[in-house]
Amino acid sequence: MTRKAIYPGSFDPVTLGHFDIIKRSSEVVDHLTVAVLDNPRKIELFSFQERFDMLKKITAGLPNVDVDFFKGLLVDYASAKNTRVIIKGLRAISDFEFEFQMALVNQRLDPKIETLFMMTNSEYAHLSSSIVKEVASLDGDISHMVPPELHEIIVNKIKAKNNGG
Ligand code: ADP
Repeated sequence: MTRKAIYPGSFDPVTLGHFDIIKRSSEVVDHLTVAVLDNPRKIELFSFQERFDMLKKITAGLPNVDVDFFKGLLVDYASAKNTRVIIKGLRAISDFEFEFQMALVNQRLDPKIETLFMMTNSEYAHLSSSIVKEVASLDGDISHMVPPELHEIIVNKIKAKNNGG
């Protein structure tokens, strides 16, 4: 049996915390799909395509990882992909409350789907996409927060936004 898993998120933008979860998950499953949530109701800084491209770039060296997108219910997406495992990262108790609720909802919606939690790497426990946006928009250094190959793309986008772009 191939052990497949899905790692879903907004990735607005991708951080080293996300990459760490991707890399570690890819080492314990046969195949990992990183799935970008395309939610028309949520206003993201990075377009869906930009978020997708960032993930493609950082996963290029991981042969058992692919990048996809989904709309609608995560359990429907997982079931359509014939994948039973959803991976979520946990940084703190505050993540737990929300993720716990979501996992229980998903369990009700489709009992075949299991949510597995992966603890953050202590080096990245403080990282979130919103912190990256906040620091970069105030001209702070985000080089220790995002993958090096995405640094320029992320800084430029946030600068453009600050300049009314
Ligand atoms: P955000 O980074 O804004 O919380 P995402 O929806 O992009 O939001 O996160 C996708 C998944 O990655 C979630 O399961 C989230 O808990 C996890 N995650 C995000 N940042 C980290 C981190 N620094 N360490 C561990 N998991 C993380």
